[in-house]
Amino acid sequence: MKFTAGLYVLGLAATPAAAQWDDEAQTQQWSNFHHDNAGAGFVGDYALEVEYNFQRAWWVSELAAALDKWDVAIDMPGGIGTVTENPSINTRKCGAVTGKLIVCSDSYGFKQGGWLGVATASSDALGHFTKLTVQFNDTFYDSASYADPNERVYVACHELGHAFGLDHLDVTFDNPNKGSCMDYTSDVDGDGQFEIGPNPTNLIPTSKDYTVLRTDAMYGAGHATYHSSQPEEPTKPGRGGGGRPNKDLQFRTVGQPHPQAVLNAYADWGAIIGYDPQGRPNEFLMEHGNGHRTRTFVMWSREARPVGMR
Ligand SMILES: [Zn+2]
Ligand SMILES: [Zn+2]
Repeated sequence: MKFTAGLYVLGLAATPAAAQWDDEAQTQQWSNFHHDNAGAGFVGDYALEVEYNFQRAWWVSELAAALDKWDVAIDMPGGIGTVTENPSINTRKCGAVTGKLIVCSDSYGFKQGGWLGVATASSDALGHFTKLTVQFNDTFYDSASYADPNERVYVACHELGHAFGLDHLDVTFDNPNKGSCMDYTSDVDGDGQFEIGPNPTNLIPTSKDYTVLRTDAMYGAGHATYHSSQPEEPTKPGRGGGGRPNKDLQFRTVGQPHPQAVLNAYADWGAIIGYDPQGRPNEFLMEHGNGHRTRTFVMWSREARPVGMR
């Protein structure tokens, strides 16, 4: 199966730089996460139920636009089920609800160091999502630094991409855009931050995202076959692998926060299993047993210096 072959290629240290791009695209699925499409081939009628409660009304249209982009990308007859405002959602907590994607905005401030967006996903042993949350931090989107509406378009597309099971395409902020909202960037709309060569917009999914979404491990026609050939949970090499807590938490380095302070800061998200290139923890894992787990992706603001930086 192509998906599995891609994983092995990435694991080889000798992979030529020229081939790196395609290989990355093949491993862009977030762990083994995807929505259950009931194993009925290319039916995909997972009928995603979305409920939202926003402090700032602009997220209503940003959410709708982002859902639409990913719905088109996945290209399934079922796709998005219902999108409903639910004023009873506590936006501060934005608690997960089984069977739903809950989306919130609030002024979350600089808790943990200042994040723009967070996506949290729980899954069962097959990798099927059981509950999801996405949060947008209005503390930043109400500020001058993030006043450009394209900043919101980007983060909405990005966090919703996680909610469909996509990982990052690239986590370096200050390199040319790859044309995908799953690529970290300092120039969301590609309007001239980089002077050498073309710099495409990162406001939309790219065709490489579409390709990954249509693999059998996600929403492809051979999805039932994928599960029958996966008696054990697939693990992702290179970035946390089977989800063991990061060894950094087991000793104290001079000049770094005490491990307990790090654990306390991220108690809601679990163990750190990934860092962005600036050394900021951006991926977390909480194990619940029997293959059930919750993973969290955190996108930090450009200047954030979160607790536990390496
Ligand atoms: Zn499945
Ligand atoms: Zn992310």
